[in-house]
Amino acid sequence: MNDPARKSANGELIRLERVTKRFGDHTVLDHLDFSVEAGKHVTLIGPSGSGKTTILRLLMTLIKPDEGTITVDGDQLFPASEKQVREVRKKIGMVFQQFNLFPNMTVLRNITEAPVTVLGLSKDEAEERARDLLELVGLTDHVDKHPAQLSGGQQQRVAIARALAMRPQVLLLDEVTSALDPELVAGVLDVLRDIARSTDITMLCVTHEMNFARDISDQVLMFDSGRVIEAGTPEKIFSEPEHDRTREFLSAVL
Ligand code: ADP
Repeated sequence: MNDPARKSANGELIRLERVTKRFGDHTVLDHLDFSVEAGKHVTLIGPSGSGKTTILRLLMTLIKPDEGTITVDGDQLFPASEKQVREVRKKIGMVFQQFNLFPNMTVLRNITEAPVTVLGLSKDEAEERARDLLELVGLTDHVDKHPAQLSGGQQQRVAIARALAMRPQVLLLDEVTSALDPELVAGVLDVLRDIARSTDITMLCVTHEMNFARDISDQVLMFDSGRVIEAGTPEKIFSEPEHDRTREFLSAVL
């Protein structure tokens, strides 16, 4: 399971093989295969209910697949011991639609909490890291505020900084602008564009922001009913989609 040779075999960081997930008698993911190479930015698009968020939740080990295997950096997620799962989770950061910040903590403490408690950083190291990240997300003036004193866009940028503070190998982004007022969306997407450009982090995004997907993605996967029906570069998917369902979906959202 932890064979280092496998990790560097082809630069693959995430692999799903024949992953099936059912809720009751509803098959949400149906023998799904796909992989993401280290450092790449992959975007999942497709109609609501097609299983995109379920994939991110599986990778975060919030839910388990019914069949199939998922590996992250060569380590299998299911079955795995609690300890192995904890190790894999350190490699993954996630930002949700709802920002899920700790309301009773300052911005700084929201970002330093996990690096101190989970990674064992000293308070000073964690604060230095947090301040660098707050600069990256444009919030240096807000370190001592509480989440309720910030706009939704600012809160989401704190959530992004909080995820990055764990120095994950992969950042999962689940419709991170869907809960925001329209005028706050661009600021968050600009921060993510910067991160995509200036870091080597692997990104797996679920988004309805097609221009953003076009800008940052190395690969776009079009989902329908729990399957990838079409995959390719943003140029190919957005300009020359092959599948009727892709064309229909894009004409509805663009
Ligand atoms: P998407 O992200 O593409 O909109 P999701 O992965 O959120 O799709 O959901 C896929 C399907 O799985 C939907 O039909 C949704 O209702 C169903 N689903 C997701 N989570 C659960 C759950 N915990 N219990 C029952 N059904 C669920």
